[in-house]
Amino acid sequence: MLVTAIKKASVYDNVTRQFNKAADLMSLDPNIRKILAQTTNEIVVNFPVKMDDGPIKMFIGYRVQHNNVLGPFKGGLRFHPQVDLDEVRALATWMTWKSAIVNIPFGGAKGGIQIDPSKYSLSELERITRRFTYALGHNIGPEYDIPAPDVNTNPQIMAWILDTYLSMVPPKERQGCVHVVTGKPIESGGSLGRDKATGQGVVFCIEEWAKVNYFDLNGATYIVQGFGNVGSWVARLIKAHGSKLIAAEDITGGIYNPKGIDPSELIQFVKQNGGVANYPGSEGIDHKTFMKTEADIFIPAALENQITEETAPMLNVTVVAEGANGPTDTFGDEILQRREIQVIPDILCNAGGVIVSYFEWLQNKRSEAWELEEVDNKLHKKITNAYKRVKETAEDFNTDWRTAAYIVALSRLEIVYKERGIFP
Ligand code: NAD
Repeated sequence: MLVTAIKKASVYDNVTRQFNKAADLMSLDPNIRKILAQTTNEIVVNFPVKMDDGPIKMFIGYRVQHNNVLGPFKGGLRFHPQVDLDEVRALATWMTWKSAIVNIPFGGAKGGIQIDPSKYSLSELERITRRFTYALGHNIGPEYDIPAPDVNTNPQIMAWILDTYLSMVPPKERQGCVHVVTGKPIESGGSLGRDKATGQGVVFCIEEWAKVNYFDLNGATYIVQGFGNVGSWVARLIKAHGSKLIAAEDITGGIYNPKGIDPSELIQFVKQNGGVANYPGSEGIDHKTFMKTEADIFIPAALENQITEETAPMLNVTVVAEGANGPTDTFGDEILQRREIQVIPDILCNAGGVIVSYFEWLQNKRSEAWELEEVDNKLHKKITNAYKRVKETAEDFNTDWRTAAYIVALSRLEIVYKERGIFP
């Protein structure tokens, strides 16, 4: 029997292919291309942590800084068994493009620890976080490299990082360092609206998409993969338009109810039960059935490489709004284009998180606390401006939206490099 191999790209291979496609199409300056094709710094730390029952365990953590020509390195920290240098490199690179697209003065970075956090107690997680922060030392800093939450990290973890970092700087400098992380709890210097920011940004993008395509969100159906921070906020916020959640999937399994699933009740259920599986009134479904679900909108909000050569043909949706980073690999992308399934690409669609992180950083620097309405309005303006620019660029270059988003980012970086030149 002849078996056709399914093409699967490493996460960083995806970034490289996406980058090359855009750089070719826009004829990016070859010298600037060489610079942007590389990460600037790659920090790998092995560090010991004492477990609750006595023994020491070694952990491996990463921080990759891709580029800081537009401003300080910026990007989340992920705690996941799949975290490795390839993944963190890719995620750091996407952060550079993201900040450039939405026009905020940040560069790109990402980091993480290779662990399954569910296997550790809260006090172990605190010691792991603090010891990782200590190992990173002054490779992070409020004006140099600013972490934020990502998969399996949250405001509490940001508060531990802040506290550990503050204990590593002289007492007189501490007050000026609260912006070393964003996504903090509100009381510790966080911003109103940061928790929902990524999901809110995804919903603002879906609203723009609906407007341009004369698509009525009222009564539209949507499915969500990943029901953590991003997925649950999108589900909750889009419901206000009268759209109906009919399927959801997370690490515990998939659920389906064609009559509609109430996002707020599902959020409560997930809080109590750790995942969406066995949600009352819904039918349990496997991964393939989830991917084949007929709906108007698919919001991937879990991990990378979910829409591939194998799964892209299964999708039965009109538009994919990428809440996750890198959910579609380049092979899956080609299939979606052939099938005329539209994609709002990650580096635009999920940029709400870094936009409000920038607002948090600014508020900390200015000792201000903005109202939620102000944060939301500013986020809306930034992300819809970027949306329009990507749309115009897609039309100008007659290309897909992901490539257009890259061209917007690369054009901005190219201008800055040309203005500043290369030292010496
Ligand atoms: P999270 O940890 O809050 O939630 C992750 C969700 O994905 C969980 O529901 C988990 O069960 C699910 N999941 C994990 N593996 C899965 C699998 N194999 N199949 C199905 N579901 C699976 O993380 P998050 O912060 O919501 O991040 C989700 C995605 O959004 C990531 O790609 C992240 O990089 C991206 N993102 C997050 C932010 C942010 O502000 N948190 C910003 C931009 C992009």
